[in-house]
Amino acid sequence: MRANLDADEVDRTGELPQEVIKGLIRLNCFKLKIPKEYGGIGISQFNYGRIKEMIASHCASTAIWVSAHQSIGVPNPLKLFGTEEQKKKYLTRLAHEGLISGFALTEPGVGSDPASMTTTATLTEDGKHYLINGEKLWCSNGNVADVLIVVARTPDKIVNGKAKKQITCFIVETKTPGFEVAYRCDFLGCRGIINGILRFKDVKVPAENILSNPGDGLKIALTTLNTGRLTLAGGCIGAAKQCLNIARRGATERVQWGGPIGKHDAIAGKLAEMAAYVFAMESVWEYSSLLADSTNRDFRLEAAITKLFCSEATWKIADEALQIRGGRGYEKAQSLRGRGEKAYPIERILREVRINRIIEGTSEIMHLFIAREALDFHMKTLVPIADPAASVGLKTKAALAAAVKYAIWYPKLYRPARPFKDYGFVSGKMSAHMRFVEKTGKRLARMIFRLMLRYQQGLEKKQQLISRVVDIGVELFAMAATCSRAETMLVIKRRNYEKSVELADLFCKGARKRIERSFEDIAENNDRQSYKVAQGVLEGEYYFLEDGIVKNEGK
Ligand SMILES: Cc1cc2nc3c(=O)[nH]c(=O)nc-3n(C[C@H](O)[C@H](O)[C@H](O)COP(=O)(O)OP(=O)(O)OC[C@H]3O[C@@H](n4cnc5c(N)ncnc54)[C@H](O)[C@@H]3O)c2cc1C
Repeated sequence: MRANLDADEVDRTGELPQEVIKGLIRLNCFKLKIPKEYGGIGISQFNYGRIKEMIASHCASTAIWVSAHQSIGVPNPLKLFGTEEQKKKYLTRLAHEGLISGFALTEPGVGSDPASMTTTATLTEDGKHYLINGEKLWCSNGNVADVLIVVARTPDKIVNGKAKKQITCFIVETKTPGFEVAYRCDFLGCRGIINGILRFKDVKVPAENILSNPGDGLKIALTTLNTGRLTLAGGCIGAAKQCLNIARRGATERVQWGGPIGKHDAIAGKLAEMAAYVFAMESVWEYSSLLADSTNRDFRLEAAITKLFCSEATWKIADEALQIRGGRGYEKAQSLRGRGEKAYPIERILREVRINRIIEGTSEIMHLFIAREALDFHMKTLVPIADPAASVGLKTKAALAAAVKYAIWYPKLYRPARPFKDYGFVSGKMSAHMRFVEKTGKRLARMIFRLMLRYQQGLEKKQQLISRVVDIGVELFAMAATCSRAETMLVIKRRNYEKSVELADLFCKGARKRIERSFEDIAENNDRQSYKVAQGVLEGEYYFLEDGIVKNEGK
């Protein structure tokens, strides 16, 4: 890859050379996720993520080409939801003809809230085709794709006398008349990706190209995103490791005040935290990917946690790596090379990794998604009691059911955590952290219960509050995954196992502090005031703060 792909040149020109794309096809990189029986490689999610990690460590644009095609593009949803005929037709062609695909969900007016989609698909009179009309935005690979998954609204279904929105997925060949690539977008980073505006004007698609059933579109989109999120996290790990590599070299090579900057305590602290985070990210990702491979279990919660944790951590790591490089971190690699310095591309990596906090569910939406999963147990139990539309009889019934449920559940949360030895761990340090995870998990559950009682349905709107609850849960998950991995490495005496325990210990100590801070902020915060100020900002009450600038009006 180093010899054939100049990632800085891709960034400068905004083009991924054709020879690189052909080379990736020759290396089977575009059929990794296609099952063997259809001519693909049939690789596991774990190994696929590893490949994404390696590609992303070198060139983020190339990594997106590969993953937009098969994490969210046609191969994955088709594998999960397609009929045998659809698989034979499209997976075989994708594997043998080197077709490129993508996943078109987002629209100019539809981002985080896909249910409000406006692209429509209407059945023709003969019932044999659908006509797709609308506009899709930012579909990665979309401008060059041969075949796409297009998510569109089909006519409402009447259920119990009420109209129910139907969102449906279609397999669409882009050579179909009426399909048009209207624009190519340019971005902060990942400049070699190709995506823009796709227009659909009476694009005629055979009815048999519906994936699963009409109305299953959102389910398919969300399931597809599970794989996308895990794979995205693999890419984050590749970028984070590259940042660590560059920071290590930079901190060793750069000498100031009589010594390498890595010997100065402030920089040493950053390096140690980066190393601990890289170990934790890999632990979280490994656990979730192996889970996705090993069972038929629903892993959407783990995928969301992994995506949130890895994308946020990578952004911090890239920022610190740039800081460690000082002015050289801010300078482009070509410019550094031009004046004879080592051309570490940390400036480019920082721009590239920023996208991970936005695509495939923004960090804010990931918080809400995880919270909803965590609160589901309480919502189902308590909401009928608070529902103003429910009859007295229904409320009484719900209250009795809740009383029984909580009488069993709540006391368990006061049961002390198990003694260290019961974790079966060899490492005392890891056992101690696991005990903290167990104890704090119960403390968190008690806190959620109290918040539910206090705010009831209104809790969903307290986004700052529930974000902290989620942050605690994510930290606990990361601690557990990190300790288990370090412990496993210790038990099987894998290379560097002692260092792994050290890194896990350092990560867990930091996580404990962050968790404590989040609990404090849940108990006491300025959320109400900050919401009021924000509304004031929106209403123009703070215009004076924008005085003295050349105001950009987006023209
Ligand atoms: C480079 C790139 C590649 C992409 N690739 C694809 C692709 O292949 N296929 C595809 O379909 N899409 C793709 N997208 C779209 C991407 O998935 C969306 O950008 C993302 O879903 C967010 O939507 P949005 O940008 O419209 O943000 P918005 O939904 O407008 O959100 C703006 C901000 O508001 C926050 N926000 C929104 N709703 C809430 C809420 N209820 N509560 C709190 N905060 C909220 C968001 O977190 C965000 O910070 C791509 C985008 C980019 C930039």
